[in-house]
Amino acid sequence: MPPLFPALQQGSDLPAVQFGERSLSYGELFAAAEALAARLDGAVRVVVWATSSLETAVGVVATLSAGVPVVPLNPKSGASELGHIVSDSAPSLVLAAPGDELPPALADLPRIDIDVRATAPADRTPVARAEDDPALVVYTSGTTGPPKGAVLSRRAVAATLDALADAWQWTEEDVLVHALPLFHVHGLILGVLGPLRRGGAVRHLGRFGTEAVARELTKGGTMLFGVPTMYHRIAESLETEPELVEGLRRARLLVSGSAALPVHDHERIHAATGCRVIERYGMTETLITTSVRADGRPRAGTVGVPLAGVELRLVDEQDGLVPEDDPEGVGEIQVRGPNLFTSYLNRPEATAEAFAPGGWFRTGDVAVREADGYVRIVGRKATDLIKSGGYKIGAGEIENALLEHPGVREAAVTGEPDADLGERVLAWIVPADPAAPPALAELSDHVAARLSPYKRPRAVRYLDRLPRNDMGKVLKRTLGND
Ligand code: ATP
Ligand code: MG
Repeated sequence: MPPLFPALQQGSDLPAVQFGERSLSYGELFAAAEALAARLDGAVRVVVWATSSLETAVGVVATLSAGVPVVPLNPKSGASELGHIVSDSAPSLVLAAPGDELPPALADLPRIDIDVRATAPADRTPVARAEDDPALVVYTSGTTGPPKGAVLSRRAVAATLDALADAWQWTEEDVLVHALPLFHVHGLILGVLGPLRRGGAVRHLGRFGTEAVARELTKGGTMLFGVPTMYHRIAESLETEPELVEGLRRARLLVSGSAALPVHDHERIHAATGCRVIERYGMTETLITTSVRADGRPRAGTVGVPLAGVELRLVDEQDGLVPEDDPEGVGEIQVRGPNLFTSYLNRPEATAEAFAPGGWFRTGDVAVREADGYVRIVGRKATDLIKSGGYKIGAGEIENALLEHPGVREAAVTGEPDADLGERVLAWIVPADPAAPPALAELSDHVAARLSPYKRPRAVRYLDRLPRNDMGKVLKRTLGND
């Protein structure tokens, strides 16, 4: 298959990646990556200690060049998660930045320090690779259970990035403003490999901050990739930070993903800037499957249309297909296309179970398709559908309604067993003012007035904050365990 990155830029001094004050041109990045690739011969699989740094970018490009599958590790993960990933993926060696201290789970592995200033040996012949060859093994976020290693082929990576380029009109002119971690699909594959495949540049902020976002977007950044918690912080800051409003207005594209963007935040950003955040939907296993297009009609709560090459269907509980022209029909999203993962590492049964006949991947996410084909995600089958009094209620719309209440800072909705109703709607609330949390009756009326009476919360619990992972996803399975 053709190389993952265009040859044109590889020897050039055009800017490629920047992390804070440190940066590499295309020439420097590929020279360092080739030098490292030459040292990976014979490795079966490697892990990279994926700090937000030039080293991670060089390390991953090197493994792709060497044709050695790479597992990006979250440097902040706890000992048990790290132990699980290391024993599951059985790496030959670990790549890390010089000076990085590695935890005990990695201490016994051979280590190669990544030298971002190295230059490639002249005689290295590039290894020919097939489309099906595994490029990365990315572990799922562990939101619903222990993380599973999704084996991603070169084809899946290339197909997704090219389909996104089509949907987002993403070119070598684009400069991506990036503040996400580098051990998931969003931050690494879209955020680093994406710009490199297009021939554009990426500027990583190190840590997310609204001032840094404003600065980079006024200094030539054209796109911002974020997760909902970042857009929430942005929405909260617009009133007091005029530079941020100005920066967002200048951006060509504001993209959100990894979890649902609350409607309230979407609307507040739109009201203050005139810009609409574009949502895209995907999973570690499927990479990106739908997005609002750059030339589309973004609206709050929708994740757009299937990307080029992706087939999408909704399957109801009786295994029937929801007709494409039925805007009321609710079903599980199933997808097919070149973007799909190959398998879960070491989990043949889980892999088999994940697919319906015909090669359709069962996402476990439930959605409706609006009249113009835009997909609206209702929630996850496992945690976001509450069966109460004969109704099936999606947690997401209740969360959106609760977030519109001025006394609510954060909200999550789950079901809890109820003798009468089967399950009842339970609201987990982080109050805006901890001294004056909104009462159940008030929240309940607020929801009943916006949605339907049967969707109102029947119980409420107050928290200081919601349990979230590094991507800002609410960990519903741990709610109430603290
Ligand atoms: P695990 O599979 O280990 O439980 P996870 O599903 O959170 O964790 P990821 O693969 O990182 O791991 O996340 C994919 C999930 O994120 C999707 O199945 C979906 O539920 C959610 N998601 C991603 N993008 C969006 C979006 N734009 N709107 C709503 N949900 C989204
Ligand atoms: Mg998942």
